[in-house]
Amino acid sequence: MRQAARARIAFGGLLFEGNTLSPVRNGIATFRNNPFAAGSEIITRFAGTTTEPAGAISALEVAGAEAIPLLYTHGGAGGRVTEAAWKELSGEMLARLKAALPVDGVYLALHGAMLVEPHDDFNGDDPEGALLDQVRAIVGDAPIAVSLDMHAHVTMRMLAAADIIVGYQLYPHDDAHESGQRATGLMLRALAGKIRPRMGFCKLPMILQAQKQRTRGPTPMRELYWLARALESTGAVLSASYFPVQPWMDVEDLGVAGLAITDNDQAGADAAAVQLAEAFWARREAFEVATTSVAEAIRAGLARSDGFVVLADVGDCVGGGARGDSAVVLRALLAEAPGATAAVPVVDPEAAGIAHAAGEGAEITVALGNRSVPEYGAPVEVRATVRRLMDGDFTYAGGLMGGARASMGKSAWLSVGTIDVVVASNPTYEYGDEQFRAAGFDPRTRRFVVVKNPMNFQQAFAEASAMFILDAPGPTTSALAGIAIPRARGNRPFWPFQRDFTPEFAARPAARRG
Ligand SMILES: [Zn+2]
Repeated sequence: MRQAARARIAFGGLLFEGNTLSPVRNGIATFRNNPFAAGSEIITRFAGTTTEPAGAISALEVAGAEAIPLLYTHGGAGGRVTEAAWKELSGEMLARLKAALPVDGVYLALHGAMLVEPHDDFNGDDPEGALLDQVRAIVGDAPIAVSLDMHAHVTMRMLAAADIIVGYQLYPHDDAHESGQRATGLMLRALAGKIRPRMGFCKLPMILQAQKQRTRGPTPMRELYWLARALESTGAVLSASYFPVQPWMDVEDLGVAGLAITDNDQAGADAAAVQLAEAFWARREAFEVATTSVAEAIRAGLARSDGFVVLADVGDCVGGGARGDSAVVLRALLAEAPGATAAVPVVDPEAAGIAHAAGEGAEITVALGNRSVPEYGAPVEVRATVRRLMDGDFTYAGGLMGGARASMGKSAWLSVGTIDVVVASNPTYEYGDEQFRAAGFDPRTRRFVVVKNPMNFQQAFAEASAMFILDAPGPTTSALAGIAIPRARGNRPFWPFQRDFTPEFAARPAARRG
């Protein structure tokens, strides 16, 4: 038998979604409380999950390549990552890569919208681009493949450093595993000399609300999904990606983007990227959604006789960078719907600590929520019964962290009259109903279910009799035309702040040429 040298492929991931409307800094604990592993632990803990590294592991196994695990963590979302946490995480990733040399290729799962505290001569705005530059300096000409979240802020620096960039195809992000597979698979083909990847890229001065970015409903995003798959079905485009971008980021050159990869056909890649960008622009009004005032939504919910009603507190979305600590909807429920049942999540480590000190069955008086960012609301004082105390650990049932464990930290299920409040110490990404399940009840049995995400609830609570997108305050508001992102807007017309203009649909100059 021929004994061919196995390709040595280093892989890992460092994901976090930043939000400049949140002043909260996120340290190393933010990552440790979320999916996190280093070295061979990545394989033992994440193989077989629905995460990106699992996709890479399976692609490398099929190809008979040697998998060299570096570091993988998804810290969720928040304000900026602290300088210390960034240096620790990126430092470990790069140190492990150097120690693994020589490597034939690298695959990294990144979010693409991470933000770091400004430090040294680094303004903190494009840490992924800086990381990829360093990876390039270490591995020389070895192919570098990257998968990004669909809400990545894709930068020219990333495009210059990487050979292959693919985005999630689905929202909710149910294809993280497949994204890891696709990126790794393309990299292996490039390494084998079967393709010469060329990336085309087109970005527009616009941001979009999240609700109609669902890829499985009758939405404008579904049409982008179809377009991308049609482009790929010809075989001329190896990968077509769309990036509707994290909107709450005041960084330069923010915008919605299309990105296509071809085999050695720059003009073809450029044309496909422009086509994707044009498709976003043509549907810009179809992406818009109306919000409902909290009081109005509660009244409309009370008027219904069937099922349960979802109140989407989209301004306090942990997955978009908020703390999940708003008690604004809880306060409104207490005022507007006395006697109605409800399930409400609130992140509040102090209140969780008070509940744990009091013990199960105790009656406590506690101020709940809105401790971290006062301008988004004040704590609400309640009398509560401690129903259950938890360590807050749970496993995601699906999505980009499916099969991975995360921790709400010290947590409690409190009864505030007829309202069930799940109080957590740590904010955690909402995929489905994992946090409620961890507390021990099914929120669908209550009249109102409060969620703190802009879109995943449409899938997780599809059987709700009504859903309302609330006009509530927070760093992830859906009222985008009112947010302050002056650096992102720059000196140019920018959708939806300006509505009467036509952007230039031009591909950006091609970056790396292998
Ligand atoms: Zn996303």
